Parts: sequence; C-alpha cells; structure tokens
Amino acid sequence: MNILVLNTGSSSLKFQIIKTDLELIEKDSDQMLCKGLIERIGSQALVSFKVTGKSQYKTAVGLKDHKAALRFALDWILDPETQIPGIESKEDIHAIGHRTVHGGETFTSSVRINEEVIKSIEDNIDLAPLHNPANLKGIYAAKEIFGQHIPQAAIFDTAFHSTMPEVAFLYGIPYQLYRRFKIRKYGFHGTSHRYISYRYRRLENLQRKDVNIVTLHLGNGASACGIKGGISVDTSMGLSPLEGLMMGTRCGDLDPTVVEFIAHKENSSLEEVMQLLNKRSGLLGISGLTHDMRDLELEWIEFKDRRAKLALDMFSNRIKKYVGAYYATMNGTDAICFAGGIGENSPIIRKIACEGLTALGVHLDDKLNEKMVGGKEGLISTPDSKVKVYVIPTNEELIIARDTCRVVLNAPLP
Ligand code: ADP
Repeated sequence: MNILVLNTGSSSLKFQIIKTDLELIEKDSDQMLCKGLIERIGSQALVSFKVTGKSQYKTAVGLKDHKAALRFALDWILDPETQIPGIESKEDIHAIGHRTVHGGETFTSSVRINEEVIKSIEDNIDLAPLHNPANLKGIYAAKEIFGQHIPQAAIFDTAFHSTMPEVAFLYGIPYQLYRRFKIRKYGFHGTSHRYISYRYRRLENLQRKDVNIVTLHLGNGASACGIKGGISVDTSMGLSPLEGLMMGTRCGDLDPTVVEFIAHKENSSLEEVMQLLNKRSGLLGISGLTHDMRDLELEWIEFKDRRAKLALDMFSNRIKKYVGAYYATMNGTDAICFAGGIGENSPIIRKIACEGLTALGVHLDDKLNEKMVGGKEGLISTPDSKVKVYVIPTNEELIIARDTCRVVLNAPLP
C-alpha cells in the first residue's frame, strides 16, 4: 500500500510517500519512496523534492494556497520523468495520512477521517489556533484533489500523551476550569516520542511494557516525555506547545506573573505578550542573535559570544531539570533518548545536558557522542553507565504511514 503522508503548516507542506502494509510493518521493511517540502506557500514558494536514491529537485514557483501546493506536488509525483517506483497514476496512491496537531480529549488514537472527525478537529481549533486550521487545509485540499473516496486518516500529536494520569495533566487551578473548558496539559510531539520509544524497544529487544525511558525531542519546538511501562506518563508541553523546555523562539516554563508584568511595563496587550513569548523568546531572546542552534554553536565556538553560550547553557539546563523530574516521578529511568534536529546533531547540547548527571548514573562516552550525528542511531553512553543514553533519529512519517495503513485495513492500532 502506498501512503501519502502530509504535514501541513501555516505556510508549508511536507510530504512523503511510504510503501507499507501489515507484513512490511512486521518485518520493519517499509520503504520511503519520495519526499518533499514546499515552504512560503502564499507567495513565491520554495520547493525541494526528492525520489529516494536520486538527486534533489529544487525550484521556486508562485503557489497561492495549500491546494495549489498539493496539486504542484502531485504533478511532480506523477510526471513520467520523476519515476517513483510503483507510482504511475493517482490511483497508485492508496491512502493519505495527515499529521494533525491537536486532538483534544476527543482523539486518543489515530482515526479514519470522515465528516464527524473533521467537525471535531474544527471544534478543537480553540485549543490549537495556529496548527489545526493548517492541518484542516491539508485535509480539505487532499479531498478536493484525490476525490471523496480516498481513505484518509488523522494522526494526532496529542494522542500518545492521552495515557497521562490526572496528577500529571491537571494544572493547579480551579478544577471547574478543567471541567468547563478542558484546560489541562495535552502535550505534543506525541508521534515522535512514540517512534523513539518504539525504536528503543527494538534496539534493546524489549516488550513494550518494559520500556521505561525519558525521550527528548529537540527541534525548533522541543519537548521531553516520561515513558513508563511503554506509555506516556508525563510530558513537558502543555495546553499549548509553549510550556516546558526552552525552545528556538518559545520561552518554555515561566511564572505566569511575568505575563502581567510585561504587559504592564511595556504597555502591551495580552496578544502582544503572547507573541513575544512564542516568537521572540527562547534561544533567540536570550542570544539576541538567532533561534538556530547551529548558528549559536558557531557564534560560541568561533567568536566566544557570551550570550550565545548562555542560550546553550539555559537550553541544556532545562533538559537536565526535566530528566531529573521524570527520574523522580517514574522512580528511575533505563535510558535517555535524544531526537529532533538538535538532539540528533548537537554533541555539545547532549554533553552539557548530561554533564553532572553522574549521581543518576549517567555517563556519556565523549567519542561516541561526537560521532553520533547526521542521522546516525546508537548508544552514546559508556558500558558502565547505569542509565543508557541513545541518539534515535525520529521518524514521525513512518508512524503516520503505518497508522494510516492500519486504520484503512481496520487492523488493531498499537
Ligand atoms: P522542527 O522542530 O522545525 O522540525 P528540526 O527538528 O529540524 O526542527 O530542528 C531544527 C533545529 O536543529 C535548529 O535549531 C537547527 O539549528 C538544529 N540543528 C540542525 N542541524 C544541526 C547541527 N548540525 N548542529 C546543531 N544544531 C543543528
């Protein structure tokens, strides 16, 4: 079965076509046939597409909306010159899986999309005003371009965390606010945390119930997850992706009084303060330079920029605090797993984050740590480290493709 995986952002569209079925899942032999990224939809869009094993195709083209972007992608996919094995016509794409950000309390696992599901995703727009509308644009566009009958599934970022107990997901605010408005911690990056947990299980040859780890998805957005008995028991993002670790431009954990204080001192509206906390804080806010970890590392290594180093230290310190918190609430952890653009590529951050965790039994192997970059998967702790440390390049698309396949075939979801 060829599954088109779609991930639509407010002005972007990422896709992959993955060949999978129940047998391929069992054998862990699914195949990514091609992938693509379209950015800056709405103006002169930047396009980069790639068939597995071939060179990249890059271009810039005016694309006015997500529908135009998806149509452009499909034209490339079906172009005889592109030559994706097994894909000659639209009918060779058998189902579509959508990364969907917020499932609220409605969706605790992946679902086949129908009118009712679309309505529920629309109802959850309140909870994810930036993300859910973008995901819906992808769903509407796919329906128009592929027709009403192609099976589509929604895979929610929040679903993996639906197993969190009340003590972890409730905020210490009046309970009625949870009852009336569902104000609580939902968590995000669930598909990534789920994949990391799955890979760890395979690497260590364990049953799901024996997985007790802390996973760290560190990209522009960043979150930690405590996984006990194979399920998420706590995570650092909250009602929105603003809570928790410090991120590229998001502040992470903060005393709510700061919001009132900034509004008062700067004479700004609530919206302006929230914009500041979402877009001008984190690595960017502290360094005053950039949200990009690679550039910050360069600023520190080449120019000894003090605030670049401060941003690296603060970012890593937050990680350490969350690892410690989950170590305590889970009564230990067997491993810490790094993923995401930063987790997969930054030995510096991994080193600072794991430094001084020897009391918990964490010992990094510096040589392995330096080597584990650019998509490599493996152990970076010493053999005597009580807590293992892994780098596990994440693959949300694979989870989305597999869940879509299971949903379409009515097979049980894991
Ligand atoms: P997103 O959350 O947008 O998916 P990614 O997972 O792609 O983000 O991560 C982007 C982050 O990863 C950026 O801060 C980028 O600088 C960082 N990153 C990518 N490659 C490296 C590298 N070689 N060294 C350090 N940081 C890197």
